[in-house]
Amino acid sequence: MDEFEEKMEKIAAEGLSEAEIKKRFIDELGDQCICPDCPMYNQCAQEKYEGVYCFLGKSECTMEEDDCICPECEVFEDLDLKYDLYCIKASEKELRGQ
Ligand code: SF4
Ligand code: SF4
Repeated sequence: MDEFEEKMEKIAAEGLSEAEIKKRFIDELGDQCICPDCPMYNQCAQEKYEGVYCFLGKSECTMEEDDCICPECEVFEDLDLKYDLYCIKASEKELRGQ
């Protein structure tokens, strides 16, 4: 089991609601997320205070595909993430088919 699976398992065991899980991800990972430095992060995403797409899933904005900088993010390394372009694809969980 990798770090990502362990984290998801721990959170599932707490029996939190969807909204609580979302808040947890924002509180825990928001400061480390480097999406605002990414060439794809636009004004719409900024106005909606979006980020942490790896856990929260796709953006509500229309993003133009460019180079994703997720692999340079601490969250990516610490939690053994495997994908990229979360803002236009889906969360890590969805991309892993879980
Ligand atoms: S891996 Fe990507 S989406 Fe996830 S916190 Fe880091 S920069 Fe944001
Ligand atoms: S998920 Fe990746 S591509 Fe999307 S804004 Fe964050 S760093 Fe950029």
